[in-house]
Amino acid sequence: MNNIQRGRCQCGEISYAFNANKVISAHHCHCKDCQRATGSGKATILFIAKKYVEMNGDLKFFESQGTSGNHVSRGFCPNCGSGVLSYQKELSHIVFIKAGTLDDSSWVKIDSNFFTDSANKWNEPDKSIKSFKGNPSLMSNIKTLLKSF
Ligand SMILES: [Zn+2]
Ligand SMILES: [Zn+2]
Repeated sequence: MNNIQRGRCQCGEISYAFNANKVISAHHCHCKDCQRATGSGKATILFIAKKYVEMNGDLKFFESQGTSGNHVSRGFCPNCGSGVLSYQKELSHIVFIKAGTLDDSSWVKIDSNFFTDSANKWNEPDKSIKSFKGNPSLMSNIKTLLKSF
């Protein structure tokens, strides 16, 4: 069964489509880099294997090193600057789609919070879902990884 969802940057130069049935999980990331990259309290991201995402347009990437030593590349539209997706260099077959760029995100269900130790008082983590103080260590979650192949 296909459940095709689409999204785009503000100007439309970058757009994408994917089968929502292939989404592994969804998260709020409160890390400081996501706060800077989004100019907000957190980034809301969907994990999905790269091979299931059809991209149109060329993102520009900015790479930074996370607290765990992993390298995170955040992709944004070179024209309008909207952050569209990111990925970890050490886990590059999975992309993290920024939920706010979806045309319709009403179906998104968030599984957990990352980096709640750097969350702001004005954007408190959702207490009704699982929280990780820092990095959730994606590499150790074999089930998540297997689901992505
Ligand atoms: Zn754009
Ligand atoms: Zn983050």
